[in-house]
Amino acid sequence: RLVVAMHDVSKVFSNGTLALKGMSLDVKAGEFISLLGPSGCGKSTALRIIAGLGAPSSGSIDWPSSRINSKGLPEGDVGFVFQDPTLMPWATVFDNVFLPLKLRGISKASATETIMENLASVGLADFAASYPRELSGGMRMRVSIARAMVTKPKLLLMDEPFAALDEITRQKLNDDVLRLWKQHGVTVIFVTHSVYESAYLSSRIVVMRARPGQVYTDMAVTQPAE
Ligand code: ADP
Ligand code: ADP
Repeated sequence: RLVVAMHDVSKVFSNGTLALKGMSLDVKAGEFISLLGPSGCGKSTALRIIAGLGAPSSGSIDWPSSRINSKGLPEGDVGFVFQDPTLMPWATVFDNVFLPLKLRGISKASATETIMENLASVGLADFAASYPRELSGGMRMRVSIARAMVTKPKLLLMDEPFAALDEITRQKLNDDVLRLWKQHGVTVIFVTHSVYESAYLSSRIVVMRARPGQVYTDMAVTQPAE
């Protein structure tokens, strides 16, 4: 079953930069895809286009099994994690994770159980009442992951999420992401320039070539680790 399909997508920015050239990608339910390639090859551009944060110059994005809203995005089906966790500093960890549910008109009382489950699944149940400034970088990233997962998305998009963290923290977070993937059966697209990370994490590696705009290569398929 297809979650999302990019068909022949190209992107030329207004300054003339060709960032993607004819990229096609079928994402099947349950896959953990790494988009791997050096800086500047168009990984973020591809992810942002899938996320609806930028229109393709040509080509199409299809969501075969989702209901589509007026922005062409599947309603509530996509979660995002970026390198910058962008938490609200004035709000507690609990309230930060509550935000996507609040935006959907869900009351705090009825969201509490879901929020606590999601915090527990990233090891932060004891930090619900803490503020972002009281947490380490790795913990803040875990809050961001819990916030992305709290709406039970079908697709989780991650853009070099751990690139700013130290190696040990990063490895722990990679294990968290793997556990979430296995537990929740969420489909993941993970942008990275780390060959190691892509091999460690993913069930499929999509390699993008060094020069921006070059046709990418969907080169390797591995089995999901058990
Ligand atoms: P990656 O994520 O692989 O590092 P990006 O998708 O960020 O690559 O960028 C691909 C190319 O598009 C690069 O040459 C980059 O400089 C260019 N680019 C990215 N965003 C913009 C933008 N908003 N305007 C102009 N050029 C951009
Ligand atoms: P609650 O649902 O408990 O009223 P909110 O989720 O609305 O809390 O916000 C959490 C905390 O952040 C509250 O203390 C609230 O006053 C504060 N807060 C919410 N939005 C803003 C804002 N835009 N600027 C400053 N403080 C805010």
